This record gives sequence, C-alpha cells and structure tokens, in this order.
Amino acid sequence: MTERSWCKMGIAENIAAIRLGMARAAEAAGRRPEEIALCAATKMNGAEAVRAAIAAGVDCCGENRAQEFWEKREANAYAGKPVHFIGRLQTNKAAKLVGNVDVIQSVDRPALLECIARAAERKALRQDILLEVNIGGEESKGGFSPAEVAEAAQAMGMFPSLRLRGLMTIPPRAETAEERRAFFVEMRRLFVDIRSKTIDNGCIDILSMGMSDDYPEAIAEGSTMIRVGTAIFGERSYARPK
Ligand SMILES: *Cc1c(COP(=O)(O)O)cnc(C)c1O
Repeated sequence: MTERSWCKMGIAENIAAIRLGMARAAEAAGRRPEEIALCAATKMNGAEAVRAAIAAGVDCCGENRAQEFWEKREANAYAGKPVHFIGRLQTNKAAKLVGNVDVIQSVDRPALLECIARAAERKALRQDILLEVNIGGEESKGGFSPAEVAEAAQAMGMFPSLRLRGLMTIPPRAETAEERRAFFVEMRRLFVDIRSKTIDNGCIDILSMGMSDDYPEAIAEGSTMIRVGTAIFGERSYARPK
C-alpha cells in the first residue's frame, strides 16, 4: 500500500469541520448531535493517518479491504477504537475477520451471513453485523433488496452467533439532493420497520448512511452513523469505487 501525502493538521481541521456540519444537520432535524457517530472510512490511508483521525476524535474506523485491516492492526493503528468492516467481502476472508472487527457492516448476501455465523459459532463468540441494502437496485452492487430486508431480519433467529445491529447502504450517485434524499427516506423506512419488530438476535440501533458528499442529507433523514473518507483524508489516489 502506498500512502499518499497528508498532513495531521489537515486531518484534525477536516474532522472539526465535519463535526460542525454534523451538529448543524442534526439540529436542523431536531436531533441531538450525539445520536450520530462518525466513522472514518480509512481505505488507502495508512496507520499514521488513521492515528491522526483517532486523535482528532472519530468514533470508529471503517476498513474496506481485509489486507489493509490486518496491516494497520499489526501497526497498532486503531488504538482501541472500534473497527467496522465496510467493504465487499469474500467468504474466504470473512471467517478470519470474525471476532477481530467490532461490526461487519457489509453483509450483502445470505451466503456471507451464513459464513460469518458459522465462523462466530466455531470461535464461540457473537459477531455484530449490519445488513447492506442495495437501495437503488443497482446491478453493479451487492446488498439485500428493500423487499428482502425484513425477511432477512426475521430469519436472524437461526443465527444465535450473530447480533443484528441495523442497516447500511451506499446509495446510487444521484444528480440532485432531492434524489439522494429519496434513497435515505426509503432506508429510514426499512430501519424503522425492523426496529418496530421483535428481531431474534437483534439489537437494532445503527443506520449507517451518508458519506463525504451527502452526510447532511443522510443525517436529516435519520442516519445514526456516517462513513466519511475524502472529507477527512483528502482525495484518494485512485478512481473512487461506486
Ligand atoms: C470509501 C467509502 C466511504 C467514504 O466515501 P467518501 O466519499 O470518501 O467519504 C463510505 N463507505 C464505504 C463503504 C466506502 O467504501
């Protein structure tokens, strides 16, 4: 992994600005800022940058690639902060992550869910997960469709080694703020729906949505965790995945 150039001051200042933006968005929506967690999306940024973000007060780190997670963990980058896995995950890499990350947010298909459950059972622990929702119905993305979410949540009773904490999404690129909001509104509806039901092995408290470009709208519509990369660390030196 090549680390781009960065500046600690820049990271602290960026995080302060995001916290301000979060507080403004929360207040405008009649919410308390403490209801929303800031997850630093750290892909392509190394241990030093992660340490700077943690020192500046992010609530958790989100990693996309298993290999990067292991490298940064080896370098003691996380300093005891929770680590969430937020990237596409192959089943052969998932088992090893179980018990080593706090939450796996990107559970995007039944086969991965089962794989994580089996690994957690073998290790005699309980793994926190989110279900990833393909809210825009995009071919290129994984995730449960909105129609599948409630059923998947209801089926959690089969997995005592898991604990369902909520939902995550990466909405499609939208032209207007209106369009973006519509996806967030739909996500909130799904979240409220599963939270209103009795979900075995569930403790539904995380709605993970909102990134650098759209976190104020996500907060306005009920996000409880935003995942921010670029606005903290600057542009990554590769084409941004959708
Ligand atoms: C990269 C990434 C983010 C952060 O995206 P930015 O636009 O850089 O803030 C959030 N969530 C996931 C799953 C990501 O891969």
